[in-house]
Amino acid sequence: MTPSPHTDAEAPCRPVILAVDDQLENLFLLEALLAESYEVRTFTNGPAVLDFLACGQLPDVLLLDVVMPGMDGFDVCRRIKADPAIRDLPVIFLTGLDTPQAETQGLDLGAEDFIHKPFVPAVVMARVRNLLARHQIEQRRQELAVREAQMAEQHRLLERKKAEERINDLAFFDQLTRLPNRPLLLDRLRQAMADSDRSDRYGAVLMLDLDHFKVLNDTRGHAEGDLLLQRVASRLIEAVRTADTVARLGGDEFVVILTGINENSLADAAVQVEGIAQKIVSVLGQSYALPSATFHCSASVGVTLFQGEAISAEDLLKQADMAMYQSKNMGGNSFTFFDRNMEIVALDHARAEADLRSALAEGQFELYFQPLIDGRSRNIIGAEALIRWNHPTRGMVSPAEFIPHAERTGLILPLGSWVMETACDHLAAWAERSEMSQLVLSINVSAKQFQAPDFARQMIAILDRTGANPHRLKIELTESLFAGNFDDIVAAMSMLQERGITFALDDFGTGFSSLSYLSRLPLDQLKIDRSFVAGIEAGDANVAICASIIGLARNLKLKVVAEGVETEAEAYFLAAVHRCDMLQGYMFSRPIQRLAFEGLFTDKAMNR
Ligand code: C2E
Ligand code: CA
Ligand code: CA
Repeated sequence: MTPSPHTDAEAPCRPVILAVDDQLENLFLLEALLAESYEVRTFTNGPAVLDFLACGQLPDVLLLDVVMPGMDGFDVCRRIKADPAIRDLPVIFLTGLDTPQAETQGLDLGAEDFIHKPFVPAVVMARVRNLLARHQIEQRRQELAVREAQMAEQHRLLERKKAEERINDLAFFDQLTRLPNRPLLLDRLRQAMADSDRSDRYGAVLMLDLDHFKVLNDTRGHAEGDLLLQRVASRLIEAVRTADTVARLGGDEFVVILTGINENSLADAAVQVEGIAQKIVSVLGQSYALPSATFHCSASVGVTLFQGEAISAEDLLKQADMAMYQSKNMGGNSFTFFDRNMEIVALDHARAEADLRSALAEGQFELYFQPLIDGRSRNIIGAEALIRWNHPTRGMVSPAEFIPHAERTGLILPLGSWVMETACDHLAAWAERSEMSQLVLSINVSAKQFQAPDFARQMIAILDRTGANPHRLKIELTESLFAGNFDDIVAAMSMLQERGITFALDDFGTGFSSLSYLSRLPLDQLKIDRSFVAGIEAGDANVAICASIIGLARNLKLKVVAEGVETEAEAYFLAAVHRCDMLQGYMFSRPIQRLAFEGLFTDKAMNR
């Protein structure tokens, strides 16, 4: 049997009802009854309706006779409920079977309802209507649930994408300036080198460092510093083409990669890059209007050219870095092209570092002591500890040579600790000897060492460990210290001063000293640099300098030491004429080994 031809008028939106009955008069009755509100399809046997359902369309209700020849209604229902594609189709049994068992069996099979024949038309209509209403609600509920699940999934995907973007952003972009960071820069540089290899065009790496950025950061605060860095970033972006890369390495260091320089020779390419470097230096050198004031800041730039992938990206950056340092050493606000000699210097540096490291490990350092003489009595009242490097092949190496390397590499920290430790050990030992117990021992502490965040605490720990008397320890600092954060310096000095340690300002007059610094620091001594002392005699220009330093110290209630005193004339002039408090120099003694220094006191004791 085939389904009845359906009435098409408004078919799509009307619920579809299937009716199955082997008795045609029942089918006609049902169709007449339902067709007004629904689209009705009729079938005279089970297999026919199953065939229809197999075509994929899912109607809204199935009215199913139970007793039919061949396949009965229960069987049809069982098959429908066993098929996941159609099991949601609501079934109402319509039957003349009038036993509770039959009804129970039908409902157990998953039918929604059970109507007895002969049926009352109004009851059939009401049951169908109710079922459809329930079903519609259920469908809506399911649709909503699906929609919700879809939206939740969409939201989840979006969040994941955002998180991925954020991770990517953090991994590859500087958060302050939004510029690529070091990893992304290296990636771009490798890409640029590979491109250059294919195209034979030149590229360039420019390494930039702002001059005196620290001053701005320290005096105007980090917010203004950050703002300046952002301005620098945008000036750099504007100064180059979009295809070029501007990156921030951190701090006040930036890198620019120029690509696709289409020139015939290295020299021509260099001329073109020179123009861009010049432009960058001049653009960055223009003043910056910051909230608190207008700020002037220049940049040091190092430039290196590349063609292809002859050397690694890291090495290119190193070259640009060396050239940048050259600019910096020349006073900044300029650019320098990398040249091979810089590599030789860098190699020297690397060798010196390795040498220093092994010297530390193998204990090749020694402290020498130079007596400090009272200007009036000419007695030894203290000593300055001066480090010596007993190099296995080079002999005695001067600290003037290796201290700068130690500072550059950071090795000054372990080296400085060793000096502090050794000096304090000696102080503790001298405290046991009456003739030496009053000596004040000076140690030299370099700016980098003093600025290490835990310097003061470390110093105190060493004093505690060795039992040295802090009142007998003096720390000599140089004016280079004042390039650091003033408040931090004063805090560290005050912490140590409370313990009894005193401070001398070394090499006074050679560096940058502002009088306001001098009066605000807990100092108690100035050491006149030996360049002013050498050859001093009446009428010499240095006389005025020494005299005014001594006068200044007196006004600030500081003691004065003259270092580098080599002749009696100098000693007389400084101590007797200008009343310099203390003297130090070859005239009295060169720096000598510990035993020799201690010997000075034994001799004296014996002489008495
Ligand atoms: P400085 O602190 O100014 O030390 C004084 C330097 O002048 C010493 O050189 C000393 O030997 C030398 N000197 C002393 N009297 C005379 C003299 O009459 N004539 C001449 N021409 N020179 C004299 P040295 O020992 O070679 O030390 C050089 C510098 O190395 C020191 O200068 C100091 O800045 C640094 N230094 C030495 N030891 C240490 C240390 O343990 N730690 C640190 N951070 N720096 C040190
Ligand atoms: Ca010194
Ligand atoms: Ca000195």
